Amino acid sequence: MIGAAVAADAGSAASDPTPPPFWETKRIDELSQREWESLCDGCGQCCLLKIEDEDTGDVFLTRLACRLLDVGRCRCKDYTNRHNVMSDCITLGPENVEAIAWLPESCAYRRVAEGRGLAWWHPLVSGDPDTVHQAGVSVRDWAVGEDPARVANIQHFIIGEVG
Ligand code: SF4
Ligand code: SF4
Repeated sequence: MIGAAVAADAGSAASDPTPPPFWETKRIDELSQREWESLCDGCGQCCLLKIEDEDTGDVFLTRLACRLLDVGRCRCKDYTNRHNVMSDCITLGPENVEAIAWLPESCAYRRVAEGRGLAWWHPLVSGDPDTVHQAGVSVRDWAVGEDPARVANIQHFIIGEVG
């Protein structure tokens, strides 16, 4: 009887495979709001301050994090009201993902928009929100919060050019 049950389950699984995840079957402009929000891997990289050279237009990335970023958790401390507090916080959407040059290569939105799928460490793939940190993708171990003294010396916090 046990053998028969196993055989029946196996047959059922073969005819009803797990459907592919939404990020592999939908374009990013087809995602629901919930799906869109769940794509963020929680790396915090987009919350690092950038500075632009007024003469050349070159943009440089720093390791200073927006003051609303909880660096330890890599989460915005006031996500719902962030635009009321930080007027220059960008709203990321399907219409501008590919136009924002400073989004990191690892950003899930950029990866999906470019057809690269999600990496093993993405929480939606691993099932574990810590893997983005364990893989060294997040800013948790090296970003520092902005404060007036640091911002006054922001050039000392540059870690690279973007774009
Ligand atoms: S860089 Fe992309 S994946 Fe990382 S926190 Fe920002 S929006 Fe989310
Ligand atoms: S306001 Fe929040 S989401 Fe926007 S850059 Fe700052 S920490 Fe990131």
